[in-house]
Amino acid sequence: MTEAEHTELRKFMRGLKKRNPYQSEFQQAVEEVATSVLPWYLKQDAYRKAEILERITEPDRIISFRVTWETDSGEIRANRAWRVQFNNCLGPYKGGLRFHPDVNESVLKFLGFEQIFKNSLTGLPMGGAKGGSNFNPKGKSEREVMRFCYSLMTELHRHIGEDTDVPAGDIGVGGREISYLFGQYMRLENRWSGVLTGKGLSFGGSAVRTEATGWGCVYFCEAMLEHHGESLNGKTVAISGSGNVALYAAQKLIEKGAKPATLSDSGGLLHFKDGMTVEQLEIIRKWKEQDRGRLADLQIKGVAYHESKNPWGVDCDVAMPCATQNELDHEDAQTLIKNGVIAVCEGANMPTTAEAIKAFRENGVLHAPGKASNAGGVAVSGLEQSQNAMRISWKRNEVDLRLKAIMQDIHDRCVEEGVKDGRVNYVDGANIAGFKKVATAMLAYGAI
Ligand code: NDP
Repeated sequence: MTEAEHTELRKFMRGLKKRNPYQSEFQQAVEEVATSVLPWYLKQDAYRKAEILERITEPDRIISFRVTWETDSGEIRANRAWRVQFNNCLGPYKGGLRFHPDVNESVLKFLGFEQIFKNSLTGLPMGGAKGGSNFNPKGKSEREVMRFCYSLMTELHRHIGEDTDVPAGDIGVGGREISYLFGQYMRLENRWSGVLTGKGLSFGGSAVRTEATGWGCVYFCEAMLEHHGESLNGKTVAISGSGNVALYAAQKLIEKGAKPATLSDSGGLLHFKDGMTVEQLEIIRKWKEQDRGRLADLQIKGVAYHESKNPWGVDCDVAMPCATQNELDHEDAQTLIKNGVIAVCEGANMPTTAEAIKAFRENGVLHAPGKASNAGGVAVSGLEQSQNAMRISWKRNEVDLRLKAIMQDIHDRCVEEGVKDGRVNYVDGANIAGFKKVATAMLAYGAI
């Protein structure tokens, strides 16, 4: 960036911080995108005159509401919930719902903002949104989760629709929660429609949706390594998280001949010294998906559990953060670099802090941002919407082939927009490619 571009960035960020005080995650996500796109944007008079950057960083609307529900013992509880409908220039709003005690407006605005560009990169007609609640599903009974989902949908159903806004899952929201939410939507609206994605296979869900984010992340990683004359075969991969994204990334990595070395949750870390086997993965998958257990309570022969540790101290060739935002900081990055990491491929949204990204860049470590490398989930959600609209369902292999092609295409677009001095900056590539398409649509619509 030139000095003049830096000055413009500082000026823009000052205004954004003033308009969005205390929203550090949102500010971080905007600054990353603005840093990438400003050198291009500042040369586009029409876009500047139309204030595209100012408008694209302001959500279309935020719906905020109370969710009241009853515990099994008859106590009344109330949580907060939101739906951030950020931008629908490319298609109906689309993005997941997150249930986690850390959820607040800043987190959902950062996620909704990222979703605009991610959805744009998939090439499918989807706008950007995100929603969720500070409800903590951990330790709740099935019935409590069900009552919470019903209550949340009792308000949310007014604001969504197959051509308006199509939510999906995210942290704390999997197939079980989507089914309860969908059931309540149908009851309230008295009609079946593809208003949520991530549905069960017997009621409109798509093959490969469960696996899509993890598998897509591995497809992206493979494309990135191959572009640089490397392959996944034999590589040791440190994965964080043990939820939907982490488990299916591990599954695909094993299939590709790589060695997943870790999985984690907020309690600690499982370390597989010789790489995880298919049998070990199946035990963990059942423990997490069916029994909803903690890693600390799982005993697997030959696998060590380290309390309160994250995976970034383990020797690896590739790091795949698949848990949550800002889980990999500058110190972690230094350790990974010292241990010889060659690539970081994000399964989670914004898991790497700005300082850690800088350290990777300065040390020649390949770094794929989540908005590109984890776009497989929303891409298959988009395919689920298409199948629902056509009242058909594609076979597993067909969806997988489409997913692979989309991930390769996203990779290639990042390269196209991100090459500078012979090196690919995937963050810039993803931001510029995602941004240009949305900005062009906004300009064409005029002053809406
Ligand atoms: P899950 O709820 O299935 O799993 C989340 C995992 O991350 C759990 O192992 C959880 O551990 C861990 N985790 C969550 N918060 C923290 C924290 N504060 N500290 C340490 N560990 C934590 O979520 P997903 O796998 O669906 O999502 C993971 C990431 O991927 C998120 O960033 C999400 O936005 C992103 N993503 C997900 C997509 C999807 O299709 N599911 C699509 C695109 C992106 P614990 O149980 O202890 O909390």
